[in-house]
Amino acid sequence: MAHRARRCAPSPSRYVKALTPYDAVSSLGKIASAKEGLPPLKLDWNESTIPPPPRVQQAILEFLLGKHPLNWYPDLSARALREALADYVGLPPDWILVTNGSDGALDLLCRTYLEPGDEVATIWPTYGHFIIFAKACGATVREVENEDCFSVHTESILRQVSPHAKVIYVASPNNPTGVVTPKEDVARICKAFPESLVIVDEAYFEFSGKTSASLVPEFENLVITRTFSKCFSIAAVRVGYLLANTGIVHELKKLHNPKSVNAIGQVAATAILQEREFRESFVQEVQTARESLVSALRARGAEVRSTEANFVLLRLANPKAFVQALESVSVYVRDRSEIRGFSGYVRITVGTKAQMEDLICRIDKLLESQPTLLEPPNK
Ligand SMILES: *Cc1c(COP(=O)(O)O)cnc(C)c1O
Repeated sequence: MAHRARRCAPSPSRYVKALTPYDAVSSLGKIASAKEGLPPLKLDWNESTIPPPPRVQQAILEFLLGKHPLNWYPDLSARALREALADYVGLPPDWILVTNGSDGALDLLCRTYLEPGDEVATIWPTYGHFIIFAKACGATVREVENEDCFSVHTESILRQVSPHAKVIYVASPNNPTGVVTPKEDVARICKAFPESLVIVDEAYFEFSGKTSASLVPEFENLVITRTFSKCFSIAAVRVGYLLANTGIVHELKKLHNPKSVNAIGQVAATAILQEREFRESFVQEVQTARESLVSALRARGAEVRSTEANFVLLRLANPKAFVQALESVSVYVRDRSEIRGFSGYVRITVGTKAQMEDLICRIDKLLESQPTLLEPPNK
């Protein structure tokens, strides 16, 4: 029987009521139920395409075998992890707050800073979850749109955003466009909007190598969010963090649930931070594989955009047919063509060189029977 809201059912907040459920189409179900055949290529959610090195699994196993019994809560301050992060980011441990994924950080920032009616500015298109968190707090979200969504939005932000905007959100590299907002631009935004909290979402920072972290001590209104879900290969255990001055961290801690970062996540994140060589070689491999993938797709007539993150974008006449065709050979990519101003675009996560060669082989096979598969619009 369908679940329908009854007339007397309690109503959620008016802000939540106005939202549409995020249709989280993940390929996990399809992958789990796939029959034998081609190994799946999961390229839809920008996770790392390889597992972390064995030492990380080892650390989790040691943990399970008794360092810290499962019946106890995790370390509430994530001290070991924050200390390891302090080394990694070059800021003191008390300038770091560990969260349940970087989504946890974005949600916490919204709940701490936003009141109904507040204005929030984001570039467009961008990471949809942030917009949901902001709207759930009753904020009015102003999407700053450039004619060319692949250009940097700084000038438009400076021109269009109200000086009273409570929060300005810039993902860099941005998802889904891959656009990087340079550190100098972040500094200009922080300076131009002293009343606004400027959030720079650096979920893909390691792939671009470009960060605004060194600005955090300089600007009282800057927060940077990061994640272990992308290049660090541990999306399953949900760990992220934010960087901000102790004044901001102090306010955030009033709402932060210290139990929200589970103990296994803390162990895994602390262990993976020690694996510098693994990380650097994966990032380098993704960069090389990305450029080969772009060339291979272009050679087949596709309109492709590379990015400074671990994904590329294809603009297609028929994005749905492409996604479906790839699924028939166990390749899962993300149709982003329904985003306003982004029609035709499909996002493909970049993995290792071997995986991307495999992808091209499968595409070639499909092209034999569907020669127009990669065709761009209006050709
Ligand atoms: C993937 C992604 C996140 C979410 O990361 P989690 O740490 O897994 O919550 C945040 N921001 C952007 C821009 C992303 O693409």
